[in-house]
Amino acid sequence: MKISFHGAAREVTGSCFLVENDDCRVLVDCGMHQGTTVADAENFKDFPFDPKTVDAVIVTHAHLDHVGRLPKLVKEGFKGKIYATPPTVELASVVLKDAEQVMEDAYRSEYRPKLFESADVEKTEKLFKAVDYSRKVRLDGLTFRFRDAGHILGSAFVEMEENGRARAAFSGDLGNIHDPILKPTAQLAAQDVLLIESTYGNRLHETVQDRSKQLKQYIINTIKRAGVLIIPAFAIERTQVLLFELNHLVENRLIPPVDIFLDSPMAIKATEIMQDFPQYYNQTALQQVCSGDDIMVFPGLEKTLTRDDSKRINDSPRPKVIIAGSGMMNGGRILHHLVRYLGDARSMVLIIGYQASGTLGRRLYNGDKHVEVLSERINVKAEIKSIGAYSAHADQKQLINWIKQAEQLPKHVYCTHGEEEASASLATRINEEFGITADVPRIGDTIII
Ligand SMILES: [Zn+2]
Repeated sequence: MKISFHGAAREVTGSCFLVENDDCRVLVDCGMHQGTTVADAENFKDFPFDPKTVDAVIVTHAHLDHVGRLPKLVKEGFKGKIYATPPTVELASVVLKDAEQVMEDAYRSEYRPKLFESADVEKTEKLFKAVDYSRKVRLDGLTFRFRDAGHILGSAFVEMEENGRARAAFSGDLGNIHDPILKPTAQLAAQDVLLIESTYGNRLHETVQDRSKQLKQYIINTIKRAGVLIIPAFAIERTQVLLFELNHLVENRLIPPVDIFLDSPMAIKATEIMQDFPQYYNQTALQQVCSGDDIMVFPGLEKTLTRDDSKRINDSPRPKVIIAGSGMMNGGRILHHLVRYLGDARSMVLIIGYQASGTLGRRLYNGDKHVEVLSERINVKAEIKSIGAYSAHADQKQLINWIKQAEQLPKHVYCTHGEEEASASLATRINEEFGITADVPRIGDTIII
């Protein structure tokens, strides 16, 4: 078995691994590079393999950095099946349509070609084949199965076997064990090689108690000073976790009544899909749903699907909470709210997710006081806060524990899907803890098992 790294090596985005043997060529993920203009240019480059010769794609989950170049692959001749779990199939469709729309809006004035058209997305949707967790799928020369990664709804890590000879696992993105809705990450079976994500390979999250307390406090502060609390939303998972916790705060009267707007069509759709798949919830969340509590709906919540609905948020009196995309503030409706409130000392931006370098989110997170949003120069006066514990990713300790709890320790580990420092730090920790060789591959590297 030969594995080549064509993305997410010494970077967080663009996941794409090619697995080959004498009988077949399979891709694990085909994600978009995100964050910077360099990353954007990267997406337009030719694949370092011929899409026509790829037999199948195995998709770990529906985030754009794992599915975003699928329509390009299809446009360039890929005709095989795209395997994914049932919720991933639903979510990927929403994510790809949204990505196409974002490009349409952004490029309209620039007269430049889009990475793919809506027709390519439609063709891609037709190739999806839903496969549930644990079911073994046999391809020519390879067998694989999805296992619950606990990262977002339907997320999986992939265990692959080559006719009893070589075994490799691809972690995809691994969940934060403190997700209140999803099941925890499943146990890893014995592997020769493990590719593990390392987004937070060098960091530890705050505790869950701290994050709920902080969220509550920030909302109360905002209400007291009649400000606006802007929470950049990652449409899938983070938003639903946030709604789950807000549901708890509101229904138990732990915060005063306040208008809360969910201003992201993609997050609204993702929330609906989440509500369609309660069988994927953990037991506590499922019991809550069965007892009649809609865990993501509460008084004061307004979902603003259309542009007109969204504009009306401006007229709504303060204080208010606005949850809007995109999560890294490099596009989407949040930009309009930032133009309005970043210069306002009574307001706050609460960052609850990873901010890739090059994004507006990263600049604000780093404390930049002068930023440009939608061509407007803004002096940042709003408070910028962050709560890392809302991350949908496992932190260093959780990653190490997941390996520790494997049926058997893998023989060789490759740290992927992380900035170089994070990947290197995790590799060192793995080596110290288990004595396993752990490497940080580069784009274009190939390994043979
Ligand atoms: Zn992800």
